[in-house]
Amino acid sequence: MSNEISRRNLLRFAALGAGVASVGALSFAPEAQAKKKKSAPGSAKGVKAYPFVCGILKTQTQYMLKDTRVGTPMNIPVTFFVLRHGDDWIAFDTGDNAMCAKDPVGYWGKDVTAAYYPVMADYEEFKVQIKKLGLSPQKLKAVVLSHGHLDHAGAIDNFVGTDVPIYLQAKELEIIKNAVASGKKTAYIPDDFKTLSQLNIKTVDGIFDVFGDKTVIAFPTPGHTQGHQSLAVKTYDGKQLVLAADAMYTLENMLDAIPPGLAWDIPQAVEALTVFKVLSMIGTEVVPSHDPEFWKAKKLAPDLFARAGYKDAILTAFADV
Ligand SMILES: [Zn+2]
Repeated sequence: MSNEISRRNLLRFAALGAGVASVGALSFAPEAQAKKKKSAPGSAKGVKAYPFVCGILKTQTQYMLKDTRVGTPMNIPVTFFVLRHGDDWIAFDTGDNAMCAKDPVGYWGKDVTAAYYPVMADYEEFKVQIKKLGLSPQKLKAVVLSHGHLDHAGAIDNFVGTDVPIYLQAKELEIIKNAVASGKKTAYIPDDFKTLSQLNIKTVDGIFDVFGDKTVIAFPTPGHTQGHQSLAVKTYDGKQLVLAADAMYTLENMLDAIPPGLAWDIPQAVEALTVFKVLSMIGTEVVPSHDPEFWKAKKLAPDLFARAGYKDAILTAFADV
């Protein structure tokens, strides 16, 4: 990592914190405009966010919180979101591949499951769970992937035979292709991408205003992976969420500036956590992807995402800042 890259990212974050006012118009304008027209004015007053848990991973603390409480077992939820914008629905991540419910060791491999063992039932897979909202994969307007890791991009094969665009950062797609070419099972599982050529993959580079109205904005948070992105969401009730994905595994990562156990670049990972901490301090709820305590307190789809339990945890944590 060069300092120049680091500064550029900070500028991106600064733009986000200032309200994203000038960065919404992207090269996706025609598509975004079309979507905007379809959602008639007033029909999308912010977004409704529905949280899902797709089983757990049995892991250890040091894989989540670098060098912390080494060897201590930790069961972490695997999470994804479905967002409603007017009549349009999108998914942010997809959870594990359905094969994790059938043959986890065969599908992810011995080495990966030794560090992260998926415990998942058939009914917890993506396409079964989104039925709770009356949805099927082809009914979604888009999927935004935070990154290509096995517990986030695992279920993209559900979009074969659809035209649903799947957005990810261009850099992340490059990394995925290299991982697939290596044939090795790492946090990127080659079999998760065996249908890649049959999918409507779209790459973005930098900030991406998904609906063109600044209600859902994907933005780069490199560190955990090179092409990682998080999602800023303005909800229908006037709140602001940041769905951090693996840029923030747990609140502890953010509050104590502990890098993730698995990171492409630790300084950049910590930089993202610092920005999340500041956003939390001004009232944005930053949602960790794998925090057992955080997710235990949350209602899941078909209920809406709610702030219950979050405010107290954050206020307590910041009491001695
Ligand atoms: Zn990851």
